[in-house]
Amino acid sequence: MSDAQPIAPLTPGQRDALRATLTLARSLPIYRASLAMAHVGASPEDMLAELPVFDPGKIGRLALEVLEQRARDLGGIEMTSGTTGGQPKRRILSDEDVTLDAALVAELFHVAGVRAADRVVAVELAATTLSAAFLEGAERLGVRFAVALAAVTAADAEALVRLQPDVVAGPPSVLTRLTPALCARPPRLVIYNGDRLPPATLDTLHGAGIGVRSLYGLTETSALGVECCEGTGIHLCPRYALHETRLVDGADELLVTTLGYAMPLLRYPTGDLVRVEPGRCPCGLDWPRVTLTGRRGDQFSLFDVKLTPDDIAGVLPPCDDPFLQVVLSTNPDGSERLTLRLPRARAAQRVAIRQALRHHPLLDYLITTRAVRVRPVFITPPAGRKPPRLIDRRGERRSM
Ligand SMILES: [Zn+2]
Repeated sequence: MSDAQPIAPLTPGQRDALRATLTLARSLPIYRASLAMAHVGASPEDMLAELPVFDPGKIGRLALEVLEQRARDLGGIEMTSGTTGGQPKRRILSDEDVTLDAALVAELFHVAGVRAADRVVAVELAATTLSAAFLEGAERLGVRFAVALAAVTAADAEALVRLQPDVVAGPPSVLTRLTPALCARPPRLVIYNGDRLPPATLDTLHGAGIGVRSLYGLTETSALGVECCEGTGIHLCPRYALHETRLVDGADELLVTTLGYAMPLLRYPTGDLVRVEPGRCPCGLDWPRVTLTGRRGDQFSLFDVKLTPDDIAGVLPPCDDPFLQVVLSTNPDGSERLTLRLPRARAAQRVAIRQALRHHPLLDYLITTRAVRVRPVFITPPAGRKPPRLIDRRGERRSM
């Protein structure tokens, strides 16, 4: 039915987990019709192969369906990147999902090189489910010193130095702001969630002799993998998700199917373009590996938030002229510049535009902390050929 290819053959454990996930998915109206078409007695991988690729525009509906079922064991609700129309959607977690996430983080931290004797500090702007998962994951590895630090003020940065961490984990925007403190007393390892750390931050951390690893994932899913310590790509954890690729405009896009989570994503398109790395990794781990080669179409990442120009357009105040061009660049201090080229008709909306972006649940803290600086520019849209909606001048470079 589709041209997607599994990245690696299914193990018996994955097959069982997929069967359980498909059974759960059958109870959700959004999947019922397509799963009803699957052949009775077909293997779980054949049933999966017959399903269409998930339409990210329907993730909000999926969240509502799961929420209706999960009134009694709701473990949490997280905001995810908007995929259509700008407004963030929700990821519904059961109690069991929260435990799964901690087990997953423990595995990924281990692959990243976190050891029981390490002093681990999870930095965040406030105590979040992410920092809680980091701490619980570290504790599962036998780490006895694991603390969360809300890193908001200059005094918080000093506290980070005093804690003398071996490992610091957190979102890339917070780590970028803490770079001077990290260099003042370099930890062995910095782990950031998401796949993008500004190149200037990465250079500075490497210059201080700090190992940097990315925890790869989407806001719609848990973490999916972790950068290999050998610099050979991202190891995808096979226990909590299946990975496929599909050919889109000559490149391979990664598709994920989550295993065991209350809100099952079946063949969800990540928007990330990947190259599957052949053979066994020199580090000895047999998880499949991919290298990220870009984002699909006009999708882009601001630190750990993934967006499209449509997402931005969706939150702007109404205007008859739909022209919008997004220009991304990096400031010397590692912050990112989000320039919005808009029609002159919107010039009077300047304040309202800034407010609208600041009220976006995923952008607010990036803007408030000046990790992202927004600059609306009002122009006469060029006549003739349609200009590109996205121009990325950030010198995209993957960490290692
Ligand atoms: Zn490896």
